[in-house]
Amino acid sequence: MPDTPEVAPYPEGARLVLATRNAGKLRELRELLRGKVPGLDVDTQVIDAQAAGAPDVVESGTTFEANSLLKAREVAAVTGLVAVADDSGLAVDVLGGAPGIFSARWSGRHGDDEANLHLLLAQLADIPAEHRGASFVCAAAVALPDGTAHVTRGALEGSLLTAPRGTGGFGYDPILQPSGMQVSCAELTPAEKNAISHRAQAFAALVPHLVDALR
Ligand code: IMP
Repeated sequence: MPDTPEVAPYPEGARLVLATRNAGKLRELRELLRGKVPGLDVDTQVIDAQAAGAPDVVESGTTFEANSLLKAREVAAVTGLVAVADDSGLAVDVLGGAPGIFSARWSGRHGDDEANLHLLLAQLADIPAEHRGASFVCAAAVALPDGTAHVTRGALEGSLLTAPRGTGGFGYDPILQPSGMQVSCAELTPAEKNAISHRAQAFAALVPHLVDALR
């Protein structure tokens, strides 16, 4: 009996899957990895969860690290490929680290950046400049199909402004002023932000583990 050809579950040549379905994030993470892992062609060998046929993973963890590990492990197990995931948010000192893992849905509506930012500003209305410390935090994880995994963390420290400034970026960028700067993250060019961002730091620390995982 002739062999029935098997449909490849993901594009031929794929070596690394990024546990995201967001096209913007796929683009950004590809750039963070470009030229960093010897022999890895980020344009053809790095795919997203959708192209890999991986399901959405419920972010049931209570920390950035736990959520990034959950996503990377599940996508690696389902696809049989090395998987990378990240989880990020804004941690405000005076709120004990909140919104934290709830950053994307702080106002109750997932992904409503404008409402999230304005709710946070209202909550902090009476807090003076010296107590408005906050950081963007990112955890990045790499996992093998057998469950072996590593997680790294990056943080961009700064303080919260009292009103939004700038039109670039997304999320809480208009209200976070990085330490030592006089502008908000939304007033930085993408290249300027990538040079200091929590995500760039977490991914730079992840690269050696990724090189090992793909060996
Ligand atoms: P996620 O890790 O893509 O799910 O991001 C979680 C949420 O954290 C986003 O929806 C934003 O509200 C916030 N966030 C994470 N990184 C940034 C950043 O670089 N700038 C502004 N907001 C961010």
